[in-house]
Amino acid sequence: MTRFVESTITFPYKRSLGPVTGPFMTALTDKRILGIRNGDQVIVPPLEWDPATGAELAHDLVEVGPAGTVESWTWVPVPSVQHPLATPFAFAFIRLDGATTLMLHAVDAGDSSAIANGARVAPRWRGTRRGAIDDIVCFVLGEESEVEGDDAGPKESVELMDYDASITYVNPVSPTLDRTVDASAEGRLLGQECPTCGRVYVGGRGHCPIDATIFSEADDVDLPQTGTITNFVVVTPTQYPGQTETEPFVRVFVLLDGYDVVLGYQPVVELAPADVHVGVRVSAVWASPGEAVDNASVGGNYGRLVGWIPTGEPDIDDPDLVNRIF
Ligand SMILES: [Zn+2]
Repeated sequence: MTRFVESTITFPYKRSLGPVTGPFMTALTDKRILGIRNGDQVIVPPLEWDPATGAELAHDLVEVGPAGTVESWTWVPVPSVQHPLATPFAFAFIRLDGATTLMLHAVDAGDSSAIANGARVAPRWRGTRRGAIDDIVCFVLGEESEVEGDDAGPKESVELMDYDASITYVNPVSPTLDRTVDASAEGRLLGQECPTCGRVYVGGRGHCPIDATIFSEADDVDLPQTGTITNFVVVTPTQYPGQTETEPFVRVFVLLDGYDVVLGYQPVVELAPADVHVGVRVSAVWASPGEAVDNASVGGNYGRLVGWIPTGEPDIDDPDLVNRIF
């Protein structure tokens, strides 16, 4: 029975909003909706450029709505987690009073029979607004705007917007990886020797990538815990959301003794970036039970392996080492 794990990776962005979207978002925090004049048109939400010609528009912003008229709509009977409302609602094209373009937003009409083309709608504002289009929770039927909860008031100026793109995916976990992580709890570096081609792998691969042989427990081998650095990279961290490293750090490639196996991108212990070089002899360092291990950078595939520490032995002087990356 294959086990699966669910992972979510998030890419946090900050977007600068610019001279038109910025004032639009700022106005939303003040429960006002701005459009931009383009000749005798009023475009909502406002754009910096004429959508027909690409010409830059004068920043002639004008307040519209906040009420408007539904021009077309579709009913969402079973909202998903990605929808703006948890209860059945309509997506509608709304022409806000004073606008010549249609704005897409959600309408909380209760029931599909309550909404029709020509229906009048007004915003339901979020109580605490941050300068985003969902400061309008949705539109409601009628002429009167509403505020959801306590009104926290407007913001001074909104120039940046947080945007977290994320994706959730599900991966199978091979029994080999489970055995590798289990072995690491005992300080063992487990590998698999392919019964077909004889190649040896680390990191919990479930099969040989050369001949597709599925590994079983019979293919497990205990690998040596000493080796030689063949390659390395010194990473100078740039600060971005979620970055916890502040100082340059090292990742090394380790060729295990007596095997044709290289472990890539391994952390080091007690080896400064200035001292790392090809040929350094190293041995594995394991976390003790209960000790936290941050090995996300190597995919967690080595369990409680913390990294590699210099053994103090003389360097290996072999020009071929530098070519060994796998
Ligand atoms: Zn093989």
